Amino acid sequence: VDEVDGNFVRTVKNCVFSKSLPTPLKGPLRLAAVSKDVIEGILDVDMAVTQSEEFLHYASGGRLLPGSVPLAHRYGGHQFGYWAGQLGDGRAHSLGQYTNRKGEVWEMQLKGSGKTPYSRSGDGRAVIRSSVREFLCSEAMHVLGVPTSRAASLIVSDEPVIRDQFYNGNVKTERGAVVLRLARSWFRIGSLEILSESGEIDLLRKLLNFVIDEHFSSIESDDPDKYLVFYSTVVNETAHMIAQWMSVGFAHGVCNTDNFSLLSITIDYGPFGFMEAYNPDFVPNTSDDEGRYSIGAQANVGLFNLEKLLTALSPVLSKKQRKEAKIILKGYANIYQMRFHQLFKAKLGLLGDEEEDGYLIAFLLKMMEDTQSDFTTTFRQLSEVSVEQLHNNNFTQMWALEDLSSHKLFSDWLNMYLLRLRGQENDDDSDRQHRMKNVNPRYVLRNWMAESAIRKAEMNDFSEVELLHHILSSPFVTQETAEEAGYAARPPLWAERLKVSCSS
Ligand code: AMP
Ligand code: MG
Ligand code: MG
Repeated sequence: VDEVDGNFVRTVKNCVFSKSLPTPLKGPLRLAAVSKDVIEGILDVDMAVTQSEEFLHYASGGRLLPGSVPLAHRYGGHQFGYWAGQLGDGRAHSLGQYTNRKGEVWEMQLKGSGKTPYSRSGDGRAVIRSSVREFLCSEAMHVLGVPTSRAASLIVSDEPVIRDQFYNGNVKTERGAVVLRLARSWFRIGSLEILSESGEIDLLRKLLNFVIDEHFSSIESDDPDKYLVFYSTVVNETAHMIAQWMSVGFAHGVCNTDNFSLLSITIDYGPFGFMEAYNPDFVPNTSDDEGRYSIGAQANVGLFNLEKLLTALSPVLSKKQRKEAKIILKGYANIYQMRFHQLFKAKLGLLGDEEEDGYLIAFLLKMMEDTQSDFTTTFRQLSEVSVEQLHNNNFTQMWALEDLSSHKLFSDWLNMYLLRLRGQENDDDSDRQHRMKNVNPRYVLRNWMAESAIRKAEMNDFSEVELLHHILSSPFVTQETAEEAGYAARPPLWAERLKVSCSS
C-alpha cells in the first residue's frame, strides 16, 4: 500500500493500492435500487436494514464500517490497442473483503465515490444514467449465467455532475450516484501489466502469488509452473466468458485490458449493449468510431488481451515456460469455438453431436444477419414454437420468426433443423421447448428499456428500475408485467436513435 496520503492525482510507484477515502455525496440521498439476492444471499444483511438512513451513508461512502480501510487500486492497461500507462481506480474505492456465512470471500467496492490518486482529469463521480445501467446489467447477467461482478445497491444524490453529453454538443448537468458492487476480486489484466511495465518484478510476483493463493485454489503454491497454470486457466476462462457474452448477444463496449478481469468475470459496465437485429458489426459504444469492440470482434480482442497478459507475465516465466505459454495461447481459438458451439447447440435444443451442427448454427446466423432478425427473440421464439407450427410456417404473433422466415433459404434450413430434431432419441417436443426456454431469455436489458427507466430515475421515480430489476431476475419466464411493458415486443421506433457513449 502506497503510504502517501490524500486523494491528489499523482503517478504512483511500487504499490498495488493507495489508501483513499471516499468523498461523501451531497444529500439528500435516495435508495434507487437494491438487490435482495446480493444483500441477503451474499452480504448476510436483512433487507430491512437497507431501508434505514444509515444504510444510505454506508452504501455511498459517507460512513465506513469498523475496520474498513478504503483503497484505490493501481493498475494500467491497453486502451483501444495502445498502452495507456497508469489508470487505476479513478472513481472507485474498495472497502474490504467480506467472508459470508457460506464461507465465500467478496470484495466490496463503491463506484462513483469520489477522487483518488488515479482520477487523472476525472471528477471521481458516476452519473445516475450509467449507474442504473451497471446495477441492472450486472444483476441481469448473473441470472443469465454469465460470470459477472454483482451490484448490491444504487444510491442517488443531488450532487451536480457535469458530463459532456452528445445532445447537440451541449453540456448537461446530471447527478451523482454510487453503486455498491461486489466481486470475488477486482484485479484486472492491467493490474499485472503496470507492475511489469514499471519493472516492479518482485511486486508482480507477490501480487501473482496472492491472486493464485486466494482465487486459484487448484494451483499449488509450490508448483514451479504455477504462473503457467494460472495463465492457462485465464486463457480458458476468458474464452468461456466471451462465448457466453456471444450466446446472449452481449457487447461489452470497452474491452480494454484494464476492463478484463483476471478471474474472467464481466466487469466495468459502461457503454455495453445487447444486440437487437443480428449483426456481427454491432458496436454499442458510439465513441468507438472504428468498431474495434464490435460484438463480432470480441473473441479476437480477448486474444489480444491475453497476449498482453502473457507479456506482463514474461518477467516471471522462464524461456521454456514462455514458449509453453505461447502454445497455450494458440489453443485459445479452439477453446472459444468449442464453447461457442456448445452454447449455440443448446440454444437450438440440439442433443448429442452431429457433423452438420456447426453448419446448422452458422446457416441460421447468416439468415438472421440477412433478414436483420432480432437475436434474443429469434432464439426465444424458436423455443416457444412447436415443431408442428414450424412445419406449417405458422408464425402468427411471432415477429422475429416472421422476419427470419422471409429469407429465401429459410425452408432449406428449417428442413435440416426439423430432420435433426426428429433424429433425437428420447426427446419430445415439449422437452425440447423446455430446454430451449431455459437458455434463451425472453427479456434482456435492451438500451431502450434501460433508457426509459433512467429518464424516470432522473426524476426520482425508481419504479421502472425496480420493475426491470424484477423482470430481469427471471428472464426465462414469461411475465405479465413485462408483456404489458412491451419488453418482448418489437422494439419501439425511437429505440433505433438511442446512443450510448463512454461518458458516464
Ligand atoms: P473505464 O473506461 O470506465 O473503464 O475507465 C477508464 C479509466 O478512467 C479508469 O481508470 C477509471 O477509473 C477512469 N475514470 C473514468 N471515469 C472517471 C471519472 N469520472 N473520474 C475519475 N476517473 C475516471
Ligand atoms: Mg492454492
Ligand atoms: Mg474500467
